[in-house]
Amino acid sequence: MNSLVHIVDLVTNGSWNLDLLNSIFPPAVVPHIIAIRFLHSTDGDDLCIWCWGSRHKFEVRTAYKLLQQAAWNPFDPSWHLVWHLPIPQRIRVFIWAILQQRIMTNLERFRRSLSHDSACSLCGSSPESITHVLRDCPNASLLSRLVDHVNWPVFFAVAIWLIWKRRNDVFNTDLGSSSNVLNRSMVWAKHVCNSHAAKPSSFTNPTTSSATVSSCKWQPAPTTWITLNTDDVVSSSGNSVVGGLLRNADGSWVTGFSRAIWMTNSLHAELWAIHDGLVFAWSLGINQIQLQSDNLLAVNLLKSQDATSSSFSLVRAIATLLHCAWLVDMSWIPREGNNPADWLAKKALGSSYCPLILDSPPPDLLPLLSTDAHGASRFMLMELFPL
Ligand SMILES: [Zn+2]
Repeated sequence: MNSLVHIVDLVTNGSWNLDLLNSIFPPAVVPHIIAIRFLHSTDGDDLCIWCWGSRHKFEVRTAYKLLQQAAWNPFDPSWHLVWHLPIPQRIRVFIWAILQQRIMTNLERFRRSLSHDSACSLCGSSPESITHVLRDCPNASLLSRLVDHVNWPVFFAVAIWLIWKRRNDVFNTDLGSSSNVLNRSMVWAKHVCNSHAAKPSSFTNPTTSSATVSSCKWQPAPTTWITLNTDDVVSSSGNSVVGGLLRNADGSWVTGFSRAIWMTNSLHAELWAIHDGLVFAWSLGINQIQLQSDNLLAVNLLKSQDATSSSFSLVRAIATLLHCAWLVDMSWIPREGNNPADWLAKKALGSSYCPLILDSPPPDLLPLLSTDAHGASRFMLMELFPL
């Protein structure tokens, strides 16, 4: 680089200056830069942000959490699953402790010099790790048995909780044999299954012990509203593409779009898809729009109270769009109800960074649109209580 270049120099007429980027950076770096939303004059003044805290001010608490992130990721979807399982809070906390490697096994005691021996106190094998206690120890072997017709996530959670209780005398419980633990776990799981089956929106699949089958279809907006569906596809190499479509309440086509984002992650790509869709809808003069995305994290970020001051530039930009003079209803939709947007995003693989606008639907997309328009149900297998 021969001279000092500012970031603002890399933007020309509201777009990244590709020629300048390519002249400065290695070819492998440019796609990563292009996927970043550059700052706009409407983004406000520069400010220092501690992006790891909700108030964006430095806090020792969040700094400590940051240092801990090598051990756990707060955005890991496992946390959603744990805290929404229909089980007592004490078992949720127990599973949370397992996921953070925090339960006090003999191996952990040995590491902390609280014990001279890391061996299992029941079978003598060494070391007594978490996986040994809950899976590999002969005293935990019940989990290897095939169990049909139960809610497997609940069964598993309850079973490992009871295995842990049985191992530790301090609980003073009389759980008896492995069979007793197995039976109690099954009874609990079946009770939850039956309660869930009583709900009209879903039912237990008699052939699948670990999942429910739910009806899932596209939900059009009310009359006079337009529905925007967006989706993204990220290849294993990080190449990202987005797509979306606007439809009337009867499912008829308004318009569609797709484009490449280049190198980024799924959350960032989905935010781009939502951003592009909203900008496009706004330019068409639409004033009532129902936005549907199958990325729960993106929807939650945009619905959060501090979206306008988010450390994500794209979240701030979308939040600004949401506060324009129109009505926007935003919701999460299961992936199985978002097939046309997924189809459009996949079609963008290998395409250009500039959006492709589709005034009429591609012929191959018509069957999916017809299915949505006629309200035909798709059925999806879903893990219990994923939200
Ligand atoms: Zn053992």
